[in-house]
Amino acid sequence: MIERSLFSPDHEAFRDAFRRFMDKEIAPFHEQWEEQGYVDRKVWNKAGENGFLCMTMPEEYGGSGADKLYSVIQMEELGRGGFTGIGYGLHSEIVAPYILHYGTQAQKQKYLPKLASGEMVGAIAMSEPAAGSDLQGVKTTAIKQADGSYLLNGSKTFITNGWHADLVIVVAKTNPAAGAKGTSLMLVERGMPGFETGKRLKKLGLKAQDTSELFFTDVKVPAENLLGGQARENRGFICLMEQLPWERLQIAITAVSSAQSAIDWTLAYVKERKVFGQPVASYQNTRYKMAELQTEVQVARVFVDKCVELVAQDKLDTATASMAKYWCSDLQCKVMDECVQLFGGYGYMWEYPITRAYADARVQRIYGGTNEIMKEVISRAMGLGAK
Ligand SMILES: Cc1cc2nc3c(=O)[nH]c(=O)nc-3n(C[C@H](O)[C@H](O)[C@H](O)COP(=O)(O)OP(=O)(O)OC[C@H]3O[C@@H](n4cnc5c(N)ncnc54)[C@H](O)[C@@H]3O)c2cc1C
Repeated sequence: MIERSLFSPDHEAFRDAFRRFMDKEIAPFHEQWEEQGYVDRKVWNKAGENGFLCMTMPEEYGGSGADKLYSVIQMEELGRGGFTGIGYGLHSEIVAPYILHYGTQAQKQKYLPKLASGEMVGAIAMSEPAAGSDLQGVKTTAIKQADGSYLLNGSKTFITNGWHADLVIVVAKTNPAAGAKGTSLMLVERGMPGFETGKRLKKLGLKAQDTSELFFTDVKVPAENLLGGQARENRGFICLMEQLPWERLQIAITAVSSAQSAIDWTLAYVKERKVFGQPVASYQNTRYKMAELQTEVQVARVFVDKCVELVAQDKLDTATASMAKYWCSDLQCKVMDECVQLFGGYGYMWEYPITRAYADARVQRIYGGTNEIMKEVISRAMGLGAK
């Protein structure tokens, strides 16, 4: 195996601390959370109390001013444990950075400390029943009123953390006639009249993740809740595009750590399980299959580690991040499928982590932009297809 060179001893000490937190606050409850369809709210507060939310936010806004590698470790560890109900990554490394990068001073001061403490849970609502891949087709509108506020109308679906969310960044058209150039990001808080959370959606996997529908009916959004203020009105699409490389890399990071975990579980199982008087591991088919999977996951890890290095230097481009997202999530699904096969019938039983990991993996090829969209992005960067 190639030794990883990304992390310092301080990073590894953090990994140990986060593992202890997972062992105490997440592992004993995750199965029950899968059954109820959402994690207990207190796991958000506990993470905040222990400094595990918004770690990369500056200290003045309640974060730790940590580098992105700390977040990478957190994602890897959650992926390794199969704790897919936990939405810390989206909250800390997608929602909070929008506010940090594009928010006004007042918005940063108001929201970031509450996101860092776990007092608020964050979500981002782009997708709609009729607009997922084609975000330019978003129908939700936020129309400016005479008093400067916006009237928000529309509905969103498939929203991660949607049911717990206290703060939602809503993608809406402030100038519906202008397409992408009329898109803005609105900060919508729980409790604003007209904002309702719909049902938690029943899913193939990610059973403990509270993926929800959201509805907005004549929600009066104050002018100060336009992300970035007036200067960013109609400029939301650019913000969305700028954040894509890091968002997509996060999916690849989780894919690799989950795939490695599946290999480790399977290795232990095939050594122990006997068929026709011999361990499953003794068959050439098993050994070669395991060798193939480990080789591919090792290759993926080296590529993803390089992308992490680039993102830390602010040099990761969208096409490369799209390669990581598509290739690693495809690989994750392939690894899960092969590992389930090696578990035989037990690989189909929900009580086995490999079975859950198989179900959880499938969505990685769909959300964050489908893998077909990733190939569109890559091929365009190669000078192919529409500009
Ligand atoms: C569990 C889960 C969590 C999610 N979390 C969030 C969230 O927090 N916030 C949020 O905003 N969204 C979220 N999503 C939505 C997700 O990002 C979308 O489902 C995804 O972008 C695909 O959109 P769609 O479902 O509308 O599929 P569609 O866009 O309808 O795509 C259907 C099929 O057409 C293909 N296709 C589309 N366009 C093209 C093209 N140009 N060329 C070739 N093929 C194409 C797609 O690849 C796909 O195979 C989540 C989804 C899931 C399932």
